[in-house]
Amino acid sequence: MEFIDFFCIFLYMIASVLFIMGIKKLGKADSARKGNLMSSIGMGIAVLSVLISQDVFDGGVIAYVIIILAIIAGSVIGFIWAKKVEMTGMPQLVALFNGFGGLSSMLVAISQYCALSGGSDAVGTDAFTSLTLGLTILIGAVAFTGSIIAWGKLAGLKMFKKNISIPGKNFINAGITFVAVLGIIFYMIDPEGGLGIAGIIITTVASLVLGVTLVITIGGGDMPVIISFLNALSGLAAAFAGFPIGNTVLIVSGCLVGASGVILTLIMCKAMNKSFASLLFKTVKKKASAATGEHKEPKAMSVEDAFLILEAAKSVVIVPGYGMAVAQAQHAVKELCDVLEDNGCEVNFAIHPVAGRMPGHMNVLLAEANVPYEQLKTSDELNPQMANTDIAIVIGANDVVNPAAINDESSPLYGMPIVNAYEARTVFVLKRGQGTGFSGIENPLFTMDNTVMIYGDAKQTVSQLVVEFEND
Ligand code: NDP
Repeated sequence: MEFIDFFCIFLYMIASVLFIMGIKKLGKADSARKGNLMSSIGMGIAVLSVLISQDVFDGGVIAYVIIILAIIAGSVIGFIWAKKVEMTGMPQLVALFNGFGGLSSMLVAISQYCALSGGSDAVGTDAFTSLTLGLTILIGAVAFTGSIIAWGKLAGLKMFKKNISIPGKNFINAGITFVAVLGIIFYMIDPEGGLGIAGIIITTVASLVLGVTLVITIGGGDMPVIISFLNALSGLAAAFAGFPIGNTVLIVSGCLVGASGVILTLIMCKAMNKSFASLLFKTVKKKASAATGEHKEPKAMSVEDAFLILEAAKSVVIVPGYGMAVAQAQHAVKELCDVLEDNGCEVNFAIHPVAGRMPGHMNVLLAEANVPYEQLKTSDELNPQMANTDIAIVIGANDVVNPAAINDESSPLYGMPIVNAYEARTVFVLKRGQGTGFSGIENPLFTMDNTVMIYGDAKQTVSQLVVEFEND
């Protein structure tokens, strides 16, 4: 083994250690930035060591120019995009990044295949290499198209309507998976011949379609889980891509992403009281035809009147949701929390696991506004005492407080645990108008007898309430 090989292994090890330490630091809000930086440095070192170990620099000036141009183009696009994106647009961006990860693994595998059919002996034709190459295409393609659909749903694009149902979707998906696997078998039988070409094409096309059919039917409360699953798939695709090209660091980093994605998926499933299988295979029942009962209108209240009720409250639970993020109301919410406490009221925050548009979304925003961590409780902790709570203030949350998840079997949200805000003596709902939540379904909480709506932008409404307290 030459010195350069030792050097590359050494670089790979440093990169792998940086990835592992980076992921560990991402587990806590205060060390997350450091974790991100460490992982990025690890990735930089990994790229450098690949360039050295694959003798890319022997390709002459042209190789340098192409690689430098690609690095500059990727970095500039990534930098501008990440800088410009709003906090509320982050989940869409993450979904796209997952998709690009899957796409690049798929393209790496296809390019390896092209090199092989072009006469290169850099790729093995043994069964294991053929299998991993095929699996890279399958998983990468599913992660790619699935993430594009997830991105469209998160961005609220009309063409990716929230709850699309495909009749017999389990049979269709099973059929497509069978065809994709058949393509891999064709390729394994004859990697260098016509059957192999057909196999690669069949697997690629079938897997691209599978990503669409798998994700398009998923909506509402299941979206966060499917996004972390797609994240796991993109990692897994990268790990498999590492085998045919013999790149250890790709296998390590892919496994890290894959494993953390799987763990997050399982944690989210548990929090949502769902099995992973039901997420992929359940069919959403069509909503029963319109209820025949009387149509109730929500009751609206002015900020001034709401203040008078709030002033007398001894216990308040604040339920933040996506609308708080849109309004960037977290600092005003902290001020409201302070004036309520100064008024002798006990204040807690009920944080639902999928409130907002990404895991931990509410925790990050409220931590930014210096709300003490001990005040952020889970719905499991606060639900038992909700009936003894004077006021639940729902700030820009909708799906996570929808009682249909408990009592309407035909609801797409049915089975999802919610914050039982409806059980509080009085419920204030702060939102701009009659807009539905991410799931796109009506919320019976808004027309309950103990609920009053305070319409307006969440930040303005909360700030006005604070002013009322200060002027009192
Ligand atoms: P929802 O999306 O259910 O509801 C948000 C509500 O906020 C809307 O009804 C909207 O009503 C209101 N709103 C929007 N802007 C403002 C504003 N400026 N001021 C006041 N209100 C505003 O949010 P939840 O947090 O309750 O639920 C999250 C949903 O997102 C769940 O369905 C979850 O499954 C899904 N999801 C979560 C992810 C995660 O990882 N956390 C990822 C992907 C999806 P109006 O327009 O009338 O103001």
